[in-house]
Amino acid sequence: GGERLLMVQLISYNKHQRMLLTRDVTQIERLETTRRDFVANVSHELRTPLTVLAGFLETLRDMPAEALNEDQRRHYLKLMLDQAQRMQAIVADLLTLSTLESSPTTDPQPVDMPELIATALDQATALSAGRHTFDRDIDPGLDILGTATELASAISNLLVNAVRYTPDGGHIAVTWRREDGGARYAVQDTGIGIDSHHLPRLTERFYRVDRSRSRESGGTGLGLAITKHIAMRHGAELHIESEPGHGSTFSLHFPDSRVA
Ligand code: ADP
Repeated sequence: GGERLLMVQLISYNKHQRMLLTRDVTQIERLETTRRDFVANVSHELRTPLTVLAGFLETLRDMPAEALNEDQRRHYLKLMLDQAQRMQAIVADLLTLSTLESSPTTDPQPVDMPELIATALDQATALSAGRHTFDRDIDPGLDILGTATELASAISNLLVNAVRYTPDGGHIAVTWRREDGGARYAVQDTGIGIDSHHLPRLTERFYRVDRSRSRESGGTGLGLAITKHIAMRHGAELHIESEPGHGSTFSLHFPDSRVA
């Protein structure tokens, strides 16, 4: 659907012979728009922390050294370091995304999913720092054919999000089980949930429901875009179910052909 864009080109061979060429460039134009939007988004995402960082640096430059005591100096340095780390996280995620898009998939190897899930749960528990309760139901012998590093990021992205978007006192349940036609990794939280009109765009790069909440919790806005890519490279599907105010379930469904 939508408008089509045609490119018309007049080619003259000599005074008498000319040829009119038309080409449908709708698809090319669409890709170009996506690319332009992406460059604009990246620039915007990096500009914010850079502006803050430059602001603090200027303030410090114009301040006599004795105007700050040790605590204040440390305080400013920490604020600046936060901004630098934020940029590092964005750039690291962008590199991950670009590698996923450009590199061919490696030979699938049996991957110990229960071990990767246990590691991700340890990280999530540390990040939660006692603010949430966790529950796990994991089939210990259920492995997947794929790339371990990629699967580890997908597993951990969904768990970290559950921690980020679930208020204190909430509950997070992780399951890894066989089911009809394959296996399913699911992370269920009792968090803030997502309004249904956001769901179709959630895996777009830099798409966030609440920009400031994502930023505060250290999100880059690229986690689900990365997770979706990894799922695709494993023949898996990312499912999202959510009820605003009640919670969300993010799951990865792997087909039988991928179960080791
Ligand atoms: P971010 O770094 O912002 O978390 P993601 O790509 O991981 O980026 O997620 C995109 C957006 O999806 C988030 O900003 C948030 O609005 C929403 N989201 C992701 N996971 C959850 C969840 N478990 N509960 C509620 N909202 C979520």
